[in-house]
Amino acid sequence: MALRSMDTLNVRGRRVLLRLDLNVPLKEGKVLDDTRVREAAPTVRALAERGAIVVACSHLGRAKGKPDPALSLAPVAPVLAKHAGRPVRFVPDVTGEVARQAVAAAKPGEVLLLENLRFEAGEEKNDPAFCGKLAALADVYVNDAFGTAHRAHASTAGVAALFSERAAGPLMAREITALTKVRDNPERPFVAVVGGAKISGKLETLTSLAGRADTVVLVGGMANTFLLAQGVAVGKSLVEADLVGTAKEILAAAAGRGVAVILPGDVVVAPSVDAPGRVVDAGRVPAEEMILDIGPATRQRIAQVVAGARTVFWNGPAGVFEKPGFAAGTLAIAKALADSTAFTAVGGGESVAAVQQAGVAANLSHVSTGGGASLEFLAGDTLPGVAVLEEGT
Ligand code: ADP
Ligand code: MG
Repeated sequence: MALRSMDTLNVRGRRVLLRLDLNVPLKEGKVLDDTRVREAAPTVRALAERGAIVVACSHLGRAKGKPDPALSLAPVAPVLAKHAGRPVRFVPDVTGEVARQAVAAAKPGEVLLLENLRFEAGEEKNDPAFCGKLAALADVYVNDAFGTAHRAHASTAGVAALFSERAAGPLMAREITALTKVRDNPERPFVAVVGGAKISGKLETLTSLAGRADTVVLVGGMANTFLLAQGVAVGKSLVEADLVGTAKEILAAAAGRGVAVILPGDVVVAPSVDAPGRVVDAGRVPAEEMILDIGPATRQRIAQVVAGARTVFWNGPAGVFEKPGFAAGTLAIAKALADSTAFTAVGGGESVAAVQQAGVAANLSHVSTGGGASLEFLAGDTLPGVAVLEEGT
């Protein structure tokens, strides 16, 4: 699958609707973490330097289809301007008269940033009338927001189909190239490390990885349900009792395909997340305590498996890493990936935060910015925002 590339579009003197992921955390009108803005800036700069009229747009937070001043993109415009190295004019409107006039007045090389797309009810509904109004603002469409590509929203799906000239931006292209390599063409051995709080929400991804990987390592809260499926008591640990049967099916399917599954052999337990932890064998979790991290022997085993891999995908922390006392397992996995010479990819909100906390992001082959989108892609799903950008569509 090849994506239409932004490089081949004729943008000089033309209006480009540029869908970005500028969904940043805000506090009292200040951008708390500008990572996404920093990453988006080179795309804005490249289009502007090629003489486009850049009409940038994004969603921010969970605006419910109506204006919410606390979720305005206004504070993001100066941050984008700083990183793009050119002025960015904020437009306090999405598709109304104010937006139309601002676009009409803009000159080649200028950059506009529209207000939060989710201030409009038509955005999440992928409403055709809203798509039409959004499309009328530009001549060409570029989507560089991988993190929302799994949503069939107006700005990601409906509007794209209305442009004959449309393409993926460089961030989107990089995500798809890296995740396609992991999913469809992994150099073997391919090791998948999956953790995080729960199985639910990751079921398809887990099933898919258990079918594609050579070894699946299960850690974090979700491993508890697998331990339970194997008849191991887990005390007061987080479990999804209703998914024990599903966990058994996944284990059986993996065994049938000759996929090795590694579950924690030792764990860190405590009566609560605020109590100090201690290491016990996975089979000896006290009835009144809970598993909050993987133990040192399991960390070492994972490091060995990762060291022998040629491709590693990791999603989901190995423990409650937000608490320093239960972060060692997660940080050990981050370090194992960083030390590996394999193609290493990480996806997921908390997992990426852990990689950054460990200070090893630069040593990984790919750090995916799209949590849900990367998992859906690895599950084998066609992402609506990506399908519409494929060559030949
Ligand atoms: P990601 O965002 O990387 O996909 P998830 O959202 O699935 O990851 O899970 C992250 C959360 O899982 C973290 O907040 C962490 O505290 C929690 N977690 C990990 N291990 C455990 C555990 N043993 N018990 C309870 N929560 C856990
Ligand atoms: Mg998460």
